[in-house]
Amino acid sequence: EGTGAASLLGAGKLEELADITGGRGIITPIVKTPMTKARKRFEGAASSHEDAEEETDDLRRPEFVIVDHELTPSQIRNLERATGAQVLDRTGVIVEIFHRHANTREAKLQVEMARLRYVAPRLRESSNGGGRQQGPGAGESNLSLDRRKIRDRLAELKTQLEAVQRDSDHRRSARKDQLRVALVGYTNAGKSSLMRALTGSQVLVQDKLFATLDTTVRTLQPETRPRILVSDTVGFIKQLPHDLVASFRSTLSEALEASLLLFVVDASDPTYEAQLEVSRSVLHEIGADVVPSRLVLNKMDRVDDARRAELLEKHPDAIPLSAHRPEDVSALRETLIAFFEADMVEDVLVLP
Ligand code: GDP
Repeated sequence: EGTGAASLLGAGKLEELADITGGRGIITPIVKTPMTKARKRFEGAASSHEDAEEETDDLRRPEFVIVDHELTPSQIRNLERATGAQVLDRTGVIVEIFHRHANTREAKLQVEMARLRYVAPRLRESSNGGGRQQGPGAGESNLSLDRRKIRDRLAELKTQLEAVQRDSDHRRSARKDQLRVALVGYTNAGKSSLMRALTGSQVLVQDKLFATLDTTVRTLQPETRPRILVSDTVGFIKQLPHDLVASFRSTLSEALEASLLLFVVDASDPTYEAQLEVSRSVLHEIGADVVPSRLVLNKMDRVDDARRAELLEKHPDAIPLSAHRPEDVSALRETLIAFFEADMVEDVLVLP
C-alpha cells in the first residue's frame, strides 16, 4: 500500500520508489478499484457477470507491488501470482536503491553480490515450480539466469571484492594516524550539505534519499595543521535488513576509523529521535558505538524559538546549527579543532 511504501523510505518520499517503478508510481489502483466495485454492487448497480469482467479489464493492473516487510520467496511468488505484478519486499527495494547509488568499485561489487544473493533463493523457488506459468513481470531476467551461473558469478565477485578490499585496507591503514571526523545519520539529515560546508568540496547534495552510498573523505577547510579529515557515510535506514548490514559492512565501517562521530539529525523533523535511534543501532551493529560522538541538531533555521529551547534542554551537549549558515559552520569547525586539541593533550598525558 502507498502508506507502507512511504514509511519504508522514511520521510514520506515517494519519488525514489516512483523512480524504481519506472515512473509508474505506487499501487493505488489495486487498493481503490476493488472498493469502487464493491460499493457499486452494494448500491445495487445491477452488475451482470459480463459487467464484472469488463470492470476487471478496466482495472489498471499494477506492474509492481511493494511490501514494507521481509517476504519469503514463496510469499513473493504467491503474491506475484495473485496480482500478476512484480513484487518487491524491503530488501528488494533497498538493494535496488543501493544499486542506483553505488559509485566506487567496492560499493558496486558489494551491491552486485547483495543483489545476486537476494535473487538466488527466489530463483530456486520458481524453478522448482515445475514449469508453472510465471505471472507477467515476474522477472524474465531471473529466469534467464541459472543458479549455477549465480554461484560462479558470486565466487568471481568475492575474489574481486577481496582484492579491492585489500587495497582499501592498505589505504585505510595509511590513514590511521590522521585526525578523522565522520558524519553519520539518517538519510536526508543534511550530512552532504554539512560536509560541503566544512570542506568546501563539491559533494553531491540532493533532496533525495540515499544520494550517498559511498564514503567520501575531504579535508576540513580552512586547513588546519595537522589536517583534520571529514568523511560522509551512507545514510542509515530504518531496519536495514541484516544481510545488507553484512554486505555493506566495509562501506559502513568507515565510521569505525574516525576519532569522532557527528550524529547529524534534522532537528526540524518531529521524528528526529527515531532517526537517531536508527543510526545508533546500525552503528552498534557494526561495532562503531565505542567511538566518541556528538549530536548535531541540523536545520535549526527551520525551528522556532520555543522548539529550540526545548531541543537544547533535552540535549544540552548537542551542537545546534544550520548547514546553510556559514557562521554556524565556522563555529562547528572551532569545536572540532578544540576536540582534537583536547584529544592530543590526553594522548600526551597517558604516555608512560
Ligand atoms: P544527507 O542525505 O544527510 O546527505 O542530506 P543532504 O545534505 O543531501 O540534505 C538534504 C536536504 O536538506 C537538502 O535539500 C538540503 O538542502 C537540506 N538541508 C541540509 N541542511 C539544511 C539546513 O541546515 N537547513 C535547511 N533549511 N535545509 C537543509
